Amino acid sequence: MTRRTKIVATIGPATESPEAIEKLITAGVDFFRFNLKHNSLEWHKKAIELIERCCQKRNKKLGIIADIQGPELRVETKDVEGLMVEEGETIYLAKEFINDKTLVINPKEVFEQLAKGWEAYIDNGNLHLTFEGRQGEAIVAKAGSRYLIKNRKAINVPGIGFDLPLFTQRDLEALNRLKELNVDYLALSFVRSKDDILELKKIIKEKGVEAGVMAKIENGSAIANLKEIVDESDAVMIARGDLGVEVPIRQLAFWQKLIIQLCRQKNTPVLVATQMLISMVNNSHPTRAEATDVANAVYDASDALMLSEETAVGNYPVRAVEEMDKICRFVEEYGKVNDIKDELEDAAEVLCDAACRIIKEAKFPVKAVLVFTQSGKTARIMARHRLGIPVIAITDKMRTYRQLNLSYGVIPYYKQFGKTEFRKDDPIFEEIKALGVVMEGDDVVAIHGNNWLSSGSTSDLSVIRF
Ligand code: PGA
Ligand code: MN
Repeated sequence: MTRRTKIVATIGPATESPEAIEKLITAGVDFFRFNLKHNSLEWHKKAIELIERCCQKRNKKLGIIADIQGPELRVETKDVEGLMVEEGETIYLAKEFINDKTLVINPKEVFEQLAKGWEAYIDNGNLHLTFEGRQGEAIVAKAGSRYLIKNRKAINVPGIGFDLPLFTQRDLEALNRLKELNVDYLALSFVRSKDDILELKKIIKEKGVEAGVMAKIENGSAIANLKEIVDESDAVMIARGDLGVEVPIRQLAFWQKLIIQLCRQKNTPVLVATQMLISMVNNSHPTRAEATDVANAVYDASDALMLSEETAVGNYPVRAVEEMDKICRFVEEYGKVNDIKDELEDAAEVLCDAACRIIKEAKFPVKAVLVFTQSGKTARIMARHRLGIPVIAITDKMRTYRQLNLSYGVIPYYKQFGKTEFRKDDPIFEEIKALGVVMEGDDVVAIHGNNWLSSGSTSDLSVIRF
């Protein structure tokens, strides 16, 4: 059985070699993520090209997410090794290095806004700082524990909506060279409202590329504007690393479930990110809590699950993917994902809903759903039902093919058609058999139009015997 929940792996120093990438592909990675806030653009470009070569070898086309930093606050340390602080020690947050115990904030422009806060968290909440007042051009802060603050770690100040530019200098450089990077989704960190999404969409259009926009939900503003953000986004990431600091950590599971539900209703691919198997950075086996977290995200019906440090800098990147793969498969086989309450908005949604009824109620087994799609929309509508059988999505657009690697249960298939009539004896059905999902004599449900792949013309549902 193919796994239906998709796996996204972040590439970093632990996985930048061809051997490592090959192993990740074998272990079942569906999508690769590049975090543009680390490494140079040249590094990312080379690694993306390497993935393309590795995929080509196996006749696969996996997807790429480029994650842009967005309006994020970071701290810089004087020593490249970082700044070691002791519990209760006084440190300084400032625009320049004033002594050995300074953290310089980046971007500097928000210093006055920062000074209005009363606490901050560094590195996904690993270190808590209490602000004790101002000393000239510096904020005096007390460290809550002993911690090595590495250079360029993120700093979160809950409750303060910083008035930051949407893109950093590095982001702008990457956006300017978007044509050179063959990416399927651009993930936007610290999205605050739909305007941020629309702004990025405008830039993507100007650059003449086809990447979708993935909103990273990771602060209070994104939570406050959740619905409009989901409505405008092509995909959504539940970025629990920052979200777990920006809102009280006890709320994380609540938001995770709600965001997944909202995304399902809008046919928007959604992924759960951060610390899913974090102990596997150092250990060859996950903790009980991590294995349960991965399983619960499958029960929550997420399209995809993401690994960050586990694959970027961990000691067991391949084992982490294998472990995730096994947990997903088990839950998919023995667990049960909730049905979705449908509000059917167009013909494609009605047809997919009808397909579900056939699959659930027919006395004969239906082995797969076949959809013919250009934008990927019909495949994503079918995916929202989180069925136990694969959705084979036939498309003549390579970008759609690659993006569909993120959607639950979707197996994309690339085929260039002329605009001819849809026929049940078309050679395409023979080709589909080669995927190994449906065999001679199996029944499948197909959702299609009168002609192959004419956009927006989905009108029919057929039961086809292979
Ligand atoms: P990051 O985003 O890894 O870029 O911080 C994900 C998260 O915050 O969970
Ligand atoms: Mn983040």
